[in-house]
Amino acid sequence: MTNIILLGPPGAGKGTQARRLVEERGMVQLSTGDMLKEAIADGTELGRKVEGIMARGELVTDEIVIGLIDEKMKSAKGSGFIFDGFPRTLPQADALADLLDRSGQSLGAVIEMRVDDEALVDRIAGRFTCGNCGEVYHKTTKPTAKEGACDVCGSHDLRHRADDNPETLKQRLMEYYKKTSPLIGYYYHDGKLAPVDGLAEIDDVAKSIAVVLDRTAAS
Ligand code: AMP
Repeated sequence: MTNIILLGPPGAGKGTQARRLVEERGMVQLSTGDMLKEAIADGTELGRKVEGIMARGELVTDEIVIGLIDEKMKSAKGSGFIFDGFPRTLPQADALADLLDRSGQSLGAVIEMRVDDEALVDRIAGRFTCGNCGEVYHKTTKPTAKEGACDVCGSHDLRHRADDNPETLKQRLMEYYKKTSPLIGYYYHDGKLAPVDGLAEIDDVAKSIAVVLDRTAAS
């Protein structure tokens, strides 16, 4: 059982690749962004607390996301975790190491999805998701087969994320460079870092990730 982190800026394709790994390998996607969005949709106290922060493209506190991950790691079952959008800060990375350690697990690899900022602007502007099953689309590179309906579940609830706009993206990228990109050095130091070209076709990115996973599982 291999646990991996998908590391990369917003729009790098983390969610898209995580969903494939869930489908193809039975892994468990742990996306703190999705958990927080769910809390907002459910109108919980946590949701109300983080709504404004997320709308501005800032990071929520380490304490909140570490708590969410801790809870999910205890209940989720599958063949390995995909940490998607977590950790995003050095204290979160330390906390994850502790959580894995405490449950007798380890981290197999950290997949760094490399993309340039210009591509991100286009990806984010064209991105939409299914409100029912979470499938991610893009208006030119991955449109739905049938206009207005999700390919996976048929829902017509296709949404553009509130924080996927040029102004918020700028803030999200700033947060990424300031607080998350130091994790590249952190995991490089651990010998866990595996960079992949996030600008390649979705299938080719998936193949690169599969190579890393198979290599990690065999070692
Ligand atoms: P995402 O869907 O991963 O892009 O996350 C959406 C938003 O949720 C981010 O812009 C942050 O406001 C918040 N968020 C998600 N994951 C984290 C995290 N690990 N640490 C802090 N904030 C997070």
